[in-house]
Amino acid sequence: MSPEIRFEEAAKLPLGSAAELAEYFPGGEYRPKPASEVSDLIANSVFGTNFSNHMASAEYEPETGWTNQALLPYGPLQMDPATSVLHYGQEIFEGMKAYRFPDGSIWTFRPAYNAARFNASAERMAMPTIPVEQFIGSLAALVRTDRDWVPSMPGASLYLRPMMIGTEARIGVSPSRSYRYLCIATPVGPYFSGDFSPVSIWVTQKYHRVGPGCTGTAKTGGNYAASMLPQKEAAALGYQQVCYLDAKTGKNLEELGGMNVFVVHQDGRVRTPALTGTILAGGTRSSIITLLEKQGHQVEETQINLEELVAQIESGEVVEIFACGTAAVVAPIGKLAGTEFEVELPVGPVTMQTYKSLTDIQFGLAPDTEGWMYQLVGADGE
Ligand SMILES: *Cc1c(COP(=O)(O)O)cnc(C)c1O
Repeated sequence: MSPEIRFEEAAKLPLGSAAELAEYFPGGEYRPKPASEVSDLIANSVFGTNFSNHMASAEYEPETGWTNQALLPYGPLQMDPATSVLHYGQEIFEGMKAYRFPDGSIWTFRPAYNAARFNASAERMAMPTIPVEQFIGSLAALVRTDRDWVPSMPGASLYLRPMMIGTEARIGVSPSRSYRYLCIATPVGPYFSGDFSPVSIWVTQKYHRVGPGCTGTAKTGGNYAASMLPQKEAAALGYQQVCYLDAKTGKNLEELGGMNVFVVHQDGRVRTPALTGTILAGGTRSSIITLLEKQGHQVEETQINLEELVAQIESGEVVEIFACGTAAVVAPIGKLAGTEFEVELPVGPVTMQTYKSLTDIQFGLAPDTEGWMYQLVGADGE
């Protein structure tokens, strides 16, 4: 079974309530935080620099499995300089959000999908998997205790960052014996403040994100480390993000450093690169495919040849391109350029409608017809 199908199947399994699962991570103390302080933080600080009061933590040893699950005060880790993650990068992470509904209840989006993907990343990186109930329990415990950190301003949310690192203090090259699991949370404003401004993309023909058989399907820090220089060079050329081509032929569109891509045709057909083992299976990508199909679009997961795509944009056959991921949800692409081409696109209706359909579900403004939302805290605070 392909990983993506495994995630879809896992996402359908019934889960215990957040109150039950949160008991896996005991500890922590509720500390009231005025909503105005959270909105001030969002307005006046850089993304991902202010964290809530606690962090969920668990430790793994081969003899005991996962132990010491607890909600700890947020704070620095003490590490031996020989700790394996610092040398060989055995690290995986997830990116999720907690959303506040109009009635005050707090929800997260398809957590079992992310749990399954976290475990698939763990397997690829020769790290231990964590039971899905504990993964979701860590988010539940953290958000339930630090609930006041979930913003109530429109479009804002509490970004959740589950992660795992190799912790063995030994610089021999082999998988770490011990691991640490952590989950932290940071309030984030709407990705687009006010207008839905398009992003400019540099399609690199010099670098690849990953190659066949590499770690492209795992959400691991190393893939991001490799994307920093391409990103820096694109920024120097005046572009905001980088799009990668497949390493084998250098001809087909894959994805951005941290977002999947969709191409909208004039006839309403939508295409996205197929998951061929070098693309990260985005939960946003998967959900958008479902939503677009429900809205009557024909969606094709296929190969997208760059040269053909540029010609289709020039001829008007392709009318919109957008990127997607948990952080931005949907980001319209206004400019696509490489060493030999530059094309521009408008922010079109399919992009805007997709953004609205998905965020309306996530913020409780539209019915959750797919059963994607998981309640972390009820409207009554329970
Ligand atoms: C996280 C990530 C995405 C988006 O995944 P979502 O589940 O939609 O947030 C896409 N590409 C890469 C490389 C990523 O790391």
